[in-house]
Amino acid sequence: MHTIYTPDIARITRIETVTTNEKIFDISFIEKEAQKKFNFLPGQFVELTVFGVGEAPFSITSNPNNKEKFQLCIRSVGSVSQAIHNLKEGAKVGIRGPFGKGTFPYEAAKGHNVLVVAGGLGLAPLMSFLTYMFDYREEYKNIMIIYGAVNPGNILYKNEISYWSSREDVKVCVTVDNPDDKWTGEIGVCTKLIPRVDFKPEDTYTIVCGPPVMYKYVVQELEKKNFTDDKIFLSLERRMECGVGKCNHCHIGNKLACVDGPVFSLWEIRDLKEAI
Ligand SMILES: Cc1cc2nc3c(=O)[nH]c(=O)nc-3n(C[C@H](O)[C@H](O)[C@H](O)COP(=O)(O)OP(=O)(O)OC[C@H]3O[C@@H](n4cnc5c(N)ncnc54)[C@H](O)[C@@H]3O)c2cc1C
Repeated sequence: MHTIYTPDIARITRIETVTTNEKIFDISFIEKEAQKKFNFLPGQFVELTVFGVGEAPFSITSNPNNKEKFQLCIRSVGSVSQAIHNLKEGAKVGIRGPFGKGTFPYEAAKGHNVLVVAGGLGLAPLMSFLTYMFDYREEYKNIMIIYGAVNPGNILYKNEISYWSSREDVKVCVTVDNPDDKWTGEIGVCTKLIPRVDFKPEDTYTIVCGPPVMYKYVVQELEKKNFTDDKIFLSLERRMECGVGKCNHCHIGNKLACVDGPVFSLWEIRDLKEAI
């Protein structure tokens, strides 16, 4: 019997080691039908099972227009993520999803400026939104990407960043907390770069994804520039179990990150003390 807890079987078709802690996995479903019905939106996530180990949520990082496969970027931190890092190309995993209602505002932001603020692994979930936006570049106004990493070795998606940097229709600012001898870019936390944004607040959607500690400071800087609650979007990760709104593990006040989020506008979560 197939229930909401039954994963579909998928295969890891390619593994790319990106940093000492993060790997990118290309995954496609064994059954053609499962692949066909797997349509996701930027900001959604899957529950991935490593058989015999367990299940954990991971954001889908690939472009929703790519229907052949999807991609995850996974940091090895615990039992499931370590186990998937130990798998080889060709290995089978279980996938439930896509889950999440609150997606990045890829439609609402059309016709407006877009500011993306990413910290560390937070760039991974944003990749789905960013690559989608570049497919429809003419539908958005100015785009600026601010990305902060701990050190140059931790920077994810280096090829994509250098491609975006070579384009004239996007401004990319990468900063690191701890530079090495070769680093010639910005130094310091990503919030430091927000004062340089010259987009009109009423015409700008801001999308933020990064470690929990970052949100409060990013929001403070955005508010200093008069950016408003309804146009600031935050991806909130919480310890999650079922992914489908049954277990209540991922509650944020009266909201559940899995079914109400994981992306929320600041307006939606403003009064929830534990949100940011
Ligand atoms: C919507 C969503 C999207 C995500 N997307 C990504 C992604 O794209 N890439 C990615 O790498 N990760 C992502 N994560 C985070 C990932 O799901 C977690 O890191 C998950 O815990 C990994 O599972 P694990 O079994 O490897 O680690 P676990 O064994 O669960 O341990 C992970 C860490 O959590 C700590 N921990 C364990 N149990 C608890 C507990 N009860 N309370 C608090 N802390 C605890 C551990 O000490 C360890 O540091 C996402 C999470 C959510 C909710």
